[in-house]
Amino acid sequence: MSRPAVFLDRDGTVIEERGYLDRLDLLALFPWTTDALRLLNRAGFVTVVVTNQSAIGRGMIDEPFLHSVHAALDARLAQGGARIDRYYHCPHLPQATVDRFRQVCRCRKPGPGMIEQACRDLDLDPSRSVMVGDRWLDVACGQAAGTRAVLVRTGHGAHEAQTAPASARADAILNNLMEAVGWILRNSSR
Ligand SMILES: [Mg+2]
Ligand SMILES: [Zn+2]
Repeated sequence: MSRPAVFLDRDGTVIEERGYLDRLDLLALFPWTTDALRLLNRAGFVTVVVTNQSAIGRGMIDEPFLHSVHAALDARLAQGGARIDRYYHCPHLPQATVDRFRQVCRCRKPGPGMIEQACRDLDLDPSRSVMVGDRWLDVACGQAAGTRAVLVRTGHGAHEAQTAPASARADAILNNLMEAVGWILRNSSR
């Protein structure tokens, strides 16, 4: 496993937190999102979204809709010359109402399954990679997978940052994704 990556939580980190994003018109990038991703692209990081989507297990949205959200996000990023290289989502939930998604899985964050799968699929080195998210479960997910981890104060982050759980420790707590990218670029050898 060789390449460095930045693993990105989606809701509250790359785009505005909307509770359950179940309409395309709810998709809103932060003002800095495209610039932040383009910096990572140009610096040679593989960019990978890892997102819990229990709305699928709850039957609120389906996977074709999720893919349409990601296609719309890709189109917005492309206008600014930025890209997300791959998306992983966890549709599962132990109490899911949709039978095939009702399970205790390894991919639901804070589980490391999505990052582990991405490392296998894309030849990524977790020890040279960073997870960025707005919740402690994102930080814990990164640590479980062997990456460094940054908590951002957008989305749930302002609230989350007030209480640090014993189970997770962030390498940095920063205001938003752009600050996180600055930290990553300063603290990585490539
Ligand atoms: Mg989030
Ligand atoms: Zn899962």
